[in-house]
Amino acid sequence: MTLTIRPLSDGHLLDLPATLPVLDPATEEVIARVPDCTRELLDATVQAAQAAFDGWSRTPIEHRRARLEALGARIKEHAEELALLLTREQGRPLALARAEVLGCVHWLRSVAKMSLPVTERTDQAGVNWSTRRVPLGVVAAIAPWNFPLTLAVWKLAPALLAGNTVILKPSPFTPLATLRVAELAADLFPAGVLNVLCGGDALGPWMTSHAGIAKVAFTGSTATGRRVMAAAAPTLKHLTLELGGNDAAIVMPDVDVTKTARKLFMGAFLNSGQVCIAAKRIYVHDAIYDTFAQVFAAAAKAAPMGPGTQEGVLLGPVQNRPQYERVKELIAATHAAGHRFLAGGEVPGGPGYFIPPAVVDNPPDDARIVVEEPFGPIVPLLRFSEVDEVVRRANDSEFGLGGSVWSDDAAQARAIGARLEVGTVWINSVHLLDPQSPFAGRKQSGIGVENGIEGLLEFTTPQTMVG
Ligand code: NAD
Repeated sequence: MTLTIRPLSDGHLLDLPATLPVLDPATEEVIARVPDCTRELLDATVQAAQAAFDGWSRTPIEHRRARLEALGARIKEHAEELALLLTREQGRPLALARAEVLGCVHWLRSVAKMSLPVTERTDQAGVNWSTRRVPLGVVAAIAPWNFPLTLAVWKLAPALLAGNTVILKPSPFTPLATLRVAELAADLFPAGVLNVLCGGDALGPWMTSHAGIAKVAFTGSTATGRRVMAAAAPTLKHLTLELGGNDAAIVMPDVDVTKTARKLFMGAFLNSGQVCIAAKRIYVHDAIYDTFAQVFAAAAKAAPMGPGTQEGVLLGPVQNRPQYERVKELIAATHAAGHRFLAGGEVPGGPGYFIPPAVVDNPPDDARIVVEEPFGPIVPLLRFSEVDEVVRRANDSEFGLGGSVWSDDAAQARAIGARLEVGTVWINSVHLLDPQSPFAGRKQSGIGVENGIEGLLEFTTPQTMVG
């Protein structure tokens, strides 16, 4: 694959020496090289973004809406090319890559329709009080490697609509589709409004501590989120942190067992389990546990795994070597602890970071596979018998991102869901997200909100005018 990959800074696509290799996780071959942003380039980009802020923040919101819609249209025109790039760098099946690209188009269009609230009143003394939402300045948007485009668009769309300027940084593992979007966007925004930089491990910390950056919108692991928060403290940056999850799924005994087991199989293993809101602990009622486990394990054994570009593939490789090694170590530890595998548990040699979906049979609640976020194709099934018991066990986690309840009785399911200490509860589904609905993590899953009007407001601060 021949690619011209150029960072976008101050309206210019930069031809720089490309030194950082990007691998296809299905083959471990280098498919491209990208430039490693220097401190000087970051400083210059921050300056350009600061210089562009005044003009962009004062353009009528209708103009900013139109630019976001134009970006959506541009991405749609190039959807197939972007999907292929995503599959090559990220590993997932092409159908899922296409869904991600079209999801970004939908997000851009939906966010473009949002408005910022204004409140006005006159008090008893005749004084006028009006409050509007103003943008913050330069936003650093930092994305992970599991959904590179989605998690970039979740940040840049509301940030730009609100009138901020943006410096976007993709993960060094998956920079290609994002940099191609930068190329497509280059003529759509005034210079300095949208900048996209790629680099190695130093770039993120430089951004999160940079005095010229007003806000960091970050998605990634909880450990990195803590580092981001610490780095942002000396300059008091606004922060949105969307971090790890260890979502529980609670399966009640009144469900259609086969249908639910098959749906939850994809709920756990979509994108080879590398989804923050994947079902990562599946609590199944004792009365149906054995049948559920049988259907679920059969689905795991039958799932076609291979390169995402291959027709009919359901599961691709794990995205990168460090993650592959982490998941392999967790599988080995699960074996060593004597827990039983109903499917998977063996990892073939390379090339490619392929791990067949692994299902663990009712390990104890303190097993690593229950307590930790594996972020890969391995999931435990856990027996329960009482609602109070399962709610307590589901909530006994440092994470609080999402959770799901599966039952034929929707009222019962909602009542159980309301007791979960998480930001999003799905009833008889997982993974459904919408640009109009807030998405937030509780506990160690994050701070702040993405999506919905609440997510948009996070890129603003109130300005009250008196008189
Ligand atoms: P990560 O934390 O390693 O990296 C995320 C991003 O931060 C990358 O761009 C990386 O280069 C950058 N980064 C790394 N160290 C940094 C530092 N010190 N300062 C600033 N930036 C830094 O995460 P990952 O491995 O790419 O992604 C997997 C994790 O992300 C999982 O824990 C998953 O649950 C989480 N995630 C959460 C959500 C959510 O919305 N809550 C969505 C997707 C993924």
